[in-house]
Formats: sequence, structure tokens, C-alpha cells
Amino acid sequence: MSKRNPIIAGNWKMNNTNAGAEKLIKELKPLVKNAKAEVVVCVPYTALATAVKATKGSNIAVGSQNVAWADNGAFTGEISAEMLNELGVKYAIIGHSERRTMFGETDETVNKRTKQAIKNGLIAIVCIGETLQERESGAMEKVLKTQTDGAFSGIVASDLKSVVVAYEPVWAIGTGVTASKEQAQDTILFVRKTLADLYGDTVAQTIRIQYGGSMNGKNVDELMAQPDIDGGLIGGASLKAEDFARVVNFN
Ligand code: PEP
Repeated sequence: MSKRNPIIAGNWKMNNTNAGAEKLIKELKPLVKNAKAEVVVCVPYTALATAVKATKGSNIAVGSQNVAWADNGAFTGEISAEMLNELGVKYAIIGHSERRTMFGETDETVNKRTKQAIKNGLIAIVCIGETLQERESGAMEKVLKTQTDGAFSGIVASDLKSVVVAYEPVWAIGTGVTASKEQAQDTILFVRKTLADLYGDTVAQTIRIQYGGSMNGKNVDELMAQPDIDGGLIGGASLKAEDFARVVNFN
């Protein structure tokens, strides 16, 4: 287990109406109240207000699944940091692979969104990860370095307390195929070294890096036992209270 404060975040993706969000959080609260990790649920925009209300007084924080890079204006379909702050949202996932592959998110937009999150007091959960083809062709390290350098361009060390990195191999997201504990540890160590190249080793040691990709109750214990894995970004297993609670209450 790492020396950094672990953080487990659920990414509900495009699941749960307001009624579903209220029910799931109600079930979740008693199951995670003694968690050793920071607990976050990243819910659809329409359920943010409900989620903030339902988690009040609990140890569960609420996140969105994106944030706009601009303060306001002609950005149809986007949500601003001010809007999220007004609701009491604390975290924002940025650059999830589904956004990158299906909605044109790039390292540049990830960087702009991350800066906007930091500027507005949100904690950015910045996602990076390679495809299977990139891993198998030997391009993985180059890809992860490009994504990391791009996401952190112009971000200073003193802002890193507002950033969590989620290393999510694309081939493991929603597939049921998890990276082995060795693959996850080795790759996250590589990401940490890349951050050390940018900020120095002492600072890199303070940055929390999550693993994401079919993390669940069966593999969480061995993944969280790795020295560089500081938590998880959880998709499928965050949609049922017992499943998510088992991940949050890892051994
Ligand atoms: C995710 O969407 O970030 C994710 C890791 O999904 P899953 O846990 O379902 O693989």
C-alpha cells in the first residue's frame, strides 16, 4: 500500500437518473462510512445536485465527468467550473478514454480543462492510458509520456495538490480484462517517473495515481497492495452499492 492517501472514485458514466442516484447513494453511505480511502462518485450532470444533497454529512464527495475550459459563453453542451462549484461538486474527471475516442478530446483540451479545474478549486482526475495496439507495438511509454506531458503543460508544482492522475489502459476499460498487478504497478511507476522528470522526484512522490480498468472486488486487494497505486477509478463496479463498497473497503 502506498504512503499517499488513497482515493477511490466511481465513474457512473451515462447511468442513473435522479431516482437511481438517490437510491444508490442511500445504499452506499452506510457501507463505506469507515473507508480508509477518500470516496468519490462521478455522476451524470443531471444527477449532480441530487448526489450532492444525498451525500451531505457523509464521507462521499461528488464529481462530474468533465468540465469546460472556458468560464462561460458559446460552448453548447459543456458545463462550467462555476456551475459545478455552485452545486458543491468537488472533483471532475478529465480526458477519460471514452471522451478521447468518441468525443474528440485531445491532450491539448485535457490540459485546458485541467487548468480550469485547478483555477476554480476543483480536483481534476486526469485520465491517461494506452490502447492494446500501442502496448503490443512497444509504443506504450511514448504514448503515456506524450499524454502526461500534454496534460501537465504549464501546470506548476504548487497546483498538483488539485490533481489526481488515473492511469487507465484502454484495453482494460469495461472489458473485464484487468491489467495484472505487475503491469499496473510497473506502468504507474513509469508515469510517476515521467512526472518526476517534470517536477522532480520529491513532488512526484506526492501525486496520487489511480489505476482504472475493470477494477473490482476480486482484484482490488492485490492492486491496492502495490506501492505506486494510490486508488482506483471504477466504472462497472461502481454501479451497485455492494460492489463499490467492496472496492472502497479494500484490504
Ligand atoms: C472507467 O470507466 O474509468 C473504468 C475504469 O471502467 P471499468 O471499471 O468498467 O473498466
